[in-house]
Amino acid sequence: MKVIPISVEKLNRSQHWRHTPDDEPGGFIQPHALDELWFHTGTACNLACPFCLEGSKPGDDRLQMLRFDDAQPLMEEALSLGVKQFSFTGGEPFINKDIVRILDYALLHRPSLVLTNATKPLMKRLRQLDSLRDRPQALSFRVSLDYPDAARHDAGRGEGMFAQALEGLRRLHDMGFHVSVANQLLADVMPDVVEARFAEVFRAAGLPQDLPRVEFPEFHLPGVQVPTPRITKRCMTDFQTEETRRSFMCAFSKMVAKSGGRMQVYACTLVDDDPDYILGETLTEALQAFVSMKHHRCYSCFKYGATCSEIKPTK
Ligand code: SF4
Repeated sequence: MKVIPISVEKLNRSQHWRHTPDDEPGGFIQPHALDELWFHTGTACNLACPFCLEGSKPGDDRLQMLRFDDAQPLMEEALSLGVKQFSFTGGEPFINKDIVRILDYALLHRPSLVLTNATKPLMKRLRQLDSLRDRPQALSFRVSLDYPDAARHDAGRGEGMFAQALEGLRRLHDMGFHVSVANQLLADVMPDVVEARFAEVFRAAGLPQDLPRVEFPEFHLPGVQVPTPRITKRCMTDFQTEETRRSFMCAFSKMVAKSGGRMQVYACTLVDDDPDYILGETLTEALQAFVSMKHHRCYSCFKYGATCSEIKPTK
C-alpha cells in the first residue's frame, strides 16, 4: 500500500499533542500499511469486569453494536488497501446478533480472529460457528484467561468464569479452530514460572500445553488520566529504530467502531476513549494521519511492546 504523506496539521483534528507540556516535540507514529483491520463489535458485554479497559458491561453503548451494513463497506475498502486479516473485539462479540453473518462474509476474503471471554454467549453459538469451519479462510479465537488460577480470574470476572472460559477454549480447539489466550502481565512473577503455570492449566484441560499467549499490562479504565512519562519525538528516535517504530500496532493496523451512531476509524484498539485518536471515517483518510504517542496506553506500547496483534507486520 502506498501512503502519501500529508501534513500533520491538515489531518489530525487536534494538534495539542504535537508538543509535550515541557514544550518538546511530541512523539508520533507514521502508519505504513493496513495489514490488519480491527472491528469493535460494541462495548456491551455479558460480564462486568471492574478492570475492563473498555468499560464494557451489560447494556453498555459507549461504542454501539456493529451491524453487518456497518462492517461490509469497511471490509471492502480494507481489501482494496491490501489488508491481510480482519480481527474482532468487544465487549463480547458473541452477544452481537450480526456477528456470525459478519464473520461469514469476512471469511470469504481474509483469515479472521475473534477475541472472546468464551462464556455463555460463545457457547450458545457453537453450532453456528461449526458452519464457518469450511469457509475459504481460517477463523481463529483468542480467549481471555487472566491468570493461571481460577480464584484470581473469578475474582474479577465472577464465580465459575474460569471453568467456563477453559471449557469454551477446549471446545473451540476440539472443533479444529486455532486458539490463543490473552492474560494479564504478572510483572512480579518470572516469565518461565508464568509459562509453567499456564502449561499445567492447559494440560489439565486436555489442551496443548504450549498454546500461544498474548500478555497485557495494566491498561486502566477508559477515560482515566494515568500519570505516565510523555513520549517525545526524541524518545522515538533515541530508544526506537525505524524497524521497531513500524512494529507498533498503529503503524500497520486500524480499528473501526460505531461511536455517536457513525462508523469512525481509530488509530488502534487501545485508544477509543480519546476523540483525538479518531482519524477519519474512511480507512484511506485515516492512513494518512500521524498517530500521537500522548495516550497513557501508548507508554505501555513504548515500554512493554504491548500489542493486541498476533500478525507479523509488513516490513
Ligand atoms: S496505544 Fe500503542 S498502538 Fe495505540 S496509538 Fe498508542 S502507541 Fe499506537
